[in-house]
Amino acid sequence: MAELRFKALEEVFSRQPKEVILPSNEVTDFFGEKVFDRFKMEKFLNREAFQGVMNAIDKGTSIDRKMADQVAIGMKAWAVSKGVTHYTHWFHPLTDGTAEKHDGFIEFGDNGNMIENFSGKLLVQQEPDASSFPSGGLRNTFEARGYTAWDVSSPAFIVDTTLCIPTVFVSYTGEALDYKAPLLKTLSLIDKAAVEVCQYFDKNITDVETSLGWEQEYFLIDEALYHARPDLILTGRTLMGHGSSKDQQLDDHYFGSIPERAGAFMKDFEIEAYKLGIPVKTRHNEVAPNQFECAPIYEEANLANDHNQLIMDLMKRVARRHNFRVLFHEKPFAGINGSGKHNNWSLKTNTGVNLLSPGKNPKTNLQFLTFLVNVVKAVYENQDLLRASILTAGNSHRLGANEAPPSIISVFLGSQLSCVLDEIVEKVSSRKMTPDEKTEIKLGIGKIPEILLDNTDRNRTSPFAFTGNRFEFRAVGSSANCATAMISLNAAVAAQLINFKKEVDKIIEKGLTKDEAILQVLKQYILSSEKIRFEGDGYSEKWKKEAKKRGLTNINSVPASISKYLDKQAKRALIDTGVFAEKELRGRVEVEYEKFTKKIQIEARVLGDLAINHVVPTALTYQNKLLENVKGMKDIFPESVFKDLSGARIDLIKEMSERVTSIKEYVREMIEERKIANKIEDLKEKAFEYDSKVLPYFDKIRYEIDKLELIVDNEIWPLPKYRELLFTS
Ligand code: ADP
Ligand code: MG
Repeated sequence: MAELRFKALEEVFSRQPKEVILPSNEVTDFFGEKVFDRFKMEKFLNREAFQGVMNAIDKGTSIDRKMADQVAIGMKAWAVSKGVTHYTHWFHPLTDGTAEKHDGFIEFGDNGNMIENFSGKLLVQQEPDASSFPSGGLRNTFEARGYTAWDVSSPAFIVDTTLCIPTVFVSYTGEALDYKAPLLKTLSLIDKAAVEVCQYFDKNITDVETSLGWEQEYFLIDEALYHARPDLILTGRTLMGHGSSKDQQLDDHYFGSIPERAGAFMKDFEIEAYKLGIPVKTRHNEVAPNQFECAPIYEEANLANDHNQLIMDLMKRVARRHNFRVLFHEKPFAGINGSGKHNNWSLKTNTGVNLLSPGKNPKTNLQFLTFLVNVVKAVYENQDLLRASILTAGNSHRLGANEAPPSIISVFLGSQLSCVLDEIVEKVSSRKMTPDEKTEIKLGIGKIPEILLDNTDRNRTSPFAFTGNRFEFRAVGSSANCATAMISLNAAVAAQLINFKKEVDKIIEKGLTKDEAILQVLKQYILSSEKIRFEGDGYSEKWKKEAKKRGLTNINSVPASISKYLDKQAKRALIDTGVFAEKELRGRVEVEYEKFTKKIQIEARVLGDLAINHVVPTALTYQNKLLENVKGMKDIFPESVFKDLSGARIDLIKEMSERVTSIKEYVREMIEERKIANKIEDLKEKAFEYDSKVLPYFDKIRYEIDKLELIVDNEIWPLPKYRELLFTS
C-alpha cells in the first residue's frame, strides 16, 4: 500500500523547475492583451457603440438592443482576431467557484452554409441550464428559471479560445442567484450613501467608488504526493497526519527566498494574469512551509473580485503545468498556519480622494475621521453579520480553532488614531462650542497626517485592522469569493452612513453648525462603539476573556454564525437597504446551511473510508509482524529471557489494538450520527446536527490515527506524511 507514497516521493525528487520565458521584455507590451478594454473597444466599436458602453460603465446608463448588436459585432471581431471560436457567460454562482458554458460562434447561414455569428441578444442575456446551481429553494418552480445578464462594468476577456463575458445570474422573478448581483447593489448603495455624507465637506464629490485589494494565500503541493492523499483530492485538506517534527517553528519560510519550482509557477501564472489585465504585484513565501501569497494592485471592487476569481482558476490550471496542485483551503494542514484572503478595503471619490486617508487640512481630516468612525461603528453594530459572511466550514479551522485567532470581531486602529478619537470624546461638548474650543479641536484634527506618517504599528492578530489608508478585513478565508465579505461590509457601512446623515441633519436643524453637529455625532459613535476597538494580541486567551466581559460575541459554530444573517441587525443592513428581499436572503442562508452540511458530510465519508480502508489494515499488518516476532522470540528464548525482552513489543501490540478498536468504534458511531442527521429535512436543523453530532468525531478519529502513524513501520504507511507533503518539493 505504501508503494504509491514512495513512488510519489521518487517523482518529486526527480523534478526540475520548468523554464518560464517572459513573452516580451516589458510587461506593458502584453498587459491586458486578452481583455476587451477601453482601448480595444475604441478600435473595434463604432463611435456610437463605444460612447454607449463608456456611458454605461461610467454613468450606469443602459444599453439598448441595437447598440448591444453593435458591441457584439466589435467584440466578436476582436475575439476572432485572437483565435477565439467560442463564447461564454461567466458568472459567480453560490458555489466555491465560477461557472461557464461554452458555445461556438458557428451557426448555419440562410443558405445552409456555416457562418460565425454573435449577436447583441447573446451578449446581453442567456439562459444557462441553471437547475443544478444552489438557490436555496428560490428556483423550485418552473417559472423561476435563471438567466445570466451582461455586467458592462467588468470587461470581457479571453481564456484559451473562449470569449468570457462577466455576467450576473438572476432568476426570472428577479432574485439574485449569484455573488455578483448583490455585490453590485452594495457598491451603488455605498456610492450613494457616501456621496451624501461627502456633500458636507465638498460639493464636487458626486461619485464614491469602493476599492478592493485582496491578498491571496495558498499552499503548493507536488501533484504526485497530492494524488497519494485521497483526503486532499476530495476535501482540499488533510484529515489526518501527524505534525512534522519541524514545521514553522524557526520562522525560516516567511519572506525567505522563493523555491525555484514555486518561483517558476509564480512567474508563469503571473504572465497569464498580466495578459488578462490582472495587476499582480507582490509575491512572497508565507509563514507555513510551502505556503505563499500573491497580491495585486487594488482596483474597483467588482473588477477586483472578478480578477480574484479568475486568478484562482488560473493558478489551478497553471499549477498543473508545473506538477503542482494549489490548495486554497483555509486549513489544509493542522498545526501550522492556515490561509486567508485579506480584503483591503477603501473608498475613493471622483475628486481623487481616498476617504480613509487623512488629508492635509482640518476640513479633509474631519471628512477622514467621519468615514473612519462610521466604519468602526458599522463593524461594532454588525459584528455578527460580518462573521456570518466569512465563517465557513473551511474557515472555521482558522477562526476559533485551537491554533488560530478566535472568532471575535474587533477593530485595530493603532495607538495614534486611538488618541485622536479619545481627544474628540474629551473636547467635543454637546452644547455650542466657543471659538477657542473650536480652534483647539481644529488644531488637533489638523495634525493627523503628521502623526500617521510614522504610524508603523501593525497588528497581525486583528481581524479588521486600519492600515494607514484602508481597512484590512483579515478574517476572510482563502477560498472565499470576496463578494460575500464585501457585500456585508458595504451594506453595513452604507446603512451606517445613511443613519449618520440623518443624525447630523437633525442637529443642524437645531441650529448648530455643520462641523459641530458632525463632531457631536462622531463623539457619540466613538463612545458607543468603543468596545469593538482592541489593540492587543487577538490570539491570546486574555483577549477571549476580555471580549466576553465587553459583551462582544464569539461564535465558533458555523451554523450558529450563519443564523445571524437573519437577525434584526443584519436585516437592517441587508434588507432595509434593498440589497436583498427577505425571501432572497432566506434562500441564501439555506444555501449556506446546505453547503456546510455537505462539506462535513463529504469529509466524514472520506475520513471513515481512509480510517477503515487505509489506516486500520496497515496497522493490522504491522501488528501481525510484531505478533510473529513475539512468537518467534518465545520459540527461541528461555521463558525468563523472553519475559524481559518482549514486554515493550507486547505493549505496542496492545496500544495498537486499542487504537484500532477506538477508530473502528468512532467511525461506526459517526456513521450512525450521519444516518440520523441525513433524515432531517430542515436544512438549518440538519446543519446544526452535523455540527454538534458528526463533526466532533473528526478530532477523535484523527487523534488515534496520528498516534498510529508514529508507531507503524514507516515502510508500510500508505499516506504521504506531513514532512513529505511540506518539505520535499
Ligand atoms: P501587507 O501584506 O503588508 O498587508 P501587501 O502588499 O501584501 O501588504 O498587500 C496590500 C494590499 O492592499 C495590496 O493588494 C494593495 O494594492 C492593497 N491596497 C493598498 N492601498 C489600498 C487602498 N487604499 N485601498 C484598498 N486596497 C489597498
Ligand atoms: Mg501581504
